Amino acid sequence: MSYNQWFQEHAAKHRAIMNKLTHLNEQEVIEYFRFENMVIQESEFCPLYAENKKCHDTPELNCYLCACPNFRFNDKGFKQEEDKTLFSTCSIESPDGDQYISETAIHQNCAGCLVPHRESYIKKVFDRDWLKIMSEVPCETNLSGD
Ligand code: SF4
Repeated sequence: MSYNQWFQEHAAKHRAIMNKLTHLNEQEVIEYFRFENMVIQESEFCPLYAENKKCHDTPELNCYLCACPNFRFNDKGFKQEEDKTLFSTCSIESPDGDQYISETAIHQNCAGCLVPHRESYIKKVFDRDWLKIMSEVPCETNLSGD
């Protein structure tokens, strides 16, 4: 599955949940998206829920901003770095971010970063429309300028 396919499908799942939560205020919505509640209430939202498994090993994991507003992807690739294509990056260059590097591709690796999973951060960028928060994530730009 491409980044874009995942992104569109996830946006639809997020919207469907939000359509059920119109009676909740912002704080209640954020609390609803805590991992422990989501596993029970929204088992289809994330494939890891079936195993009661977290994507990050942290006691307080909130799933509202899966993915992350700072993630940038381009399914065609941003640029070539020698013989590899760069497909995704972090716009804030988080010190906790990393890269997966294969023989042909470079992808952003967010496994060690908790930025979008912290409720203080979610409150800072909160909008009921997930796509608005994520508006800069899909990129058409080719960074090599070709
Ligand atoms: S490294 Fe952290 S801040 Fe950067 S895109 Fe990944 S989760 Fe977001």
